[in-house]
Amino acid sequence: ALLLGYRLLKGNYKQSVVNPGVMEAANTEPVDLEDLKLLECIGRGRYGSVFRAVSNQRTVAVKVFSGHHHYATERSVYLLPLLRQHDNMAAFMGAEERITSEGRTEYLLVMEYYPLGCLGVYLSRYSPDWPSCCRMLHSATTGLAFLHAELYRGEVYKPAVCHRDINSRNILVRGDLSCVLSDFGLSMTLTRTGLPLQGEEEHCAISEAGTLRYMAPEVLEGAVNLRDCESALKQVDVYALGLVYWETFSRCSDLYPTGESVPEYQMVFQEEVGKQPSFQDMQRLVSRDKQRPSFPWKDSSLAVRSLQDTIEECWDHDAEARLTAQCAAQRLADLLAPNTRSPALYNHRNLAEGSKMTAD
Ligand code: ADP
Ligand code: MG
Ligand code: MG
Repeated sequence: ALLLGYRLLKGNYKQSVVNPGVMEAANTEPVDLEDLKLLECIGRGRYGSVFRAVSNQRTVAVKVFSGHHHYATERSVYLLPLLRQHDNMAAFMGAEERITSEGRTEYLLVMEYYPLGCLGVYLSRYSPDWPSCCRMLHSATTGLAFLHAELYRGEVYKPAVCHRDINSRNILVRGDLSCVLSDFGLSMTLTRTGLPLQGEEEHCAISEAGTLRYMAPEVLEGAVNLRDCESALKQVDVYALGLVYWETFSRCSDLYPTGESVPEYQMVFQEEVGKQPSFQDMQRLVSRDKQRPSFPWKDSSLAVRSLQDTIEECWDHDAEARLTAQCAAQRLADLLAPNTRSPALYNHRNLAEGSKMTAD
C-alpha cells in the first residue's frame, strides 16, 4: 500500500528532452502512416469514428474525422510543447489528411491503443476497489491539472488549455489502471493574456460546448463569466470532473458491504433524467433545482466523508468556489495516503490486498 501511495505521488513529468519540432511522440516509436490498416470501429462520436488499426504489426488507435475543424483543434493540442511527455495525456503518434477512394478528404489522428477503452465502459464491467478508484482518478486529474497549467520551461512555453468535454468516455484506461485524457476536439488554448487564440472564438462559442449530461450550471444558464475566460472554463472542467468522480466511486467495491453486490454502473444523472436528457431537462435539474447525484453508499467513515467533500467542492454551484484540478489531485492523493486510507467499514480484506481488480 505504501508503495502504491509512493508511486502515485511521484511526479508525472518524464525527464526526456523536448523537441517540439518532432512529429512523433517522445515516448512512442514513429508510426508508418502508409502502412495503416483500419480493423474495427471502437467508438463513434459526434465528429468522427475511432478504429483499432495496425501499422507494421503494431496495434494503434486511429480517429477519423470527416471535418477539418475538430481535427485541427485536437491535433494542435497534441502538438503543444511538453504535452506528449506527460504520462496522463493519450499518447499521440501522428496525423494525416488523406483522400478517400470517393474523393473526400478525411483527417486521421493516430494514437496509442488502450485495450481497456474508456473509463465509462471500464466501470460498466468492473467494480474497482478503493485504491484503484483513487489511483485512476488521481491520474486523470493530474492530466487535467497539467492541461490547465501555463508552463515555462526555459525556451519552451505551454499555454493553458481547457478541455471543455470532460466525461468518463474521454478518459482512457491503461492496463495498470492509470488513466489518460483524450478527445481534445473541443479544447480551447488560451493565450498569455488569458484570452482564447484568435479565430477560435468564431468557430466554437466559448460558453456552449461539451456533453449535455456534464454541463455545469453556468453553461446551462449561458452565464459563463467571459471576463475571466480562462478561470471560468477551468471551473467548467472541474464541475464535470466531480461528476466523473461520482460515477467512479459509485462502482467502488470497498464502499458496499461484503457479500452485497455493487450497484450496476449508471451514467451520472441517469436516475434523474434517463438516457437521453434534453437541454431543458438538464437546465431544470442542475441549474434551477441545483440537484447533484446522491451518494449511493452508506459508508460514513472519515475517508468517505472527505471524498464526498471533495466531490461536492468540484461540482459546487458557485463556479469560483470549486477546487482547482491541482487541488483535486492532491485530495485524491490524500485519500490514498496510509493514515486516511481505511475508509471502508467494509472489505478490509480487499483493502489489505491492495489494488486488486474485482470483476462483476
Ligand atoms: P469523439 O470526439 O467522437 O467523442 P473520442 O476521441 O472520444 O471521439 O473517441 C470515442 C470513443 O472511442 C472513446 O469514448 C473511447 O471509448 C474510444 N477510444 C478513443 N480513443 C481510443 C484509444 N486510443 N484506445 C481505445 N479506445 C479509444
Ligand atoms: Mg469523446
Ligand atoms: Mg469529442
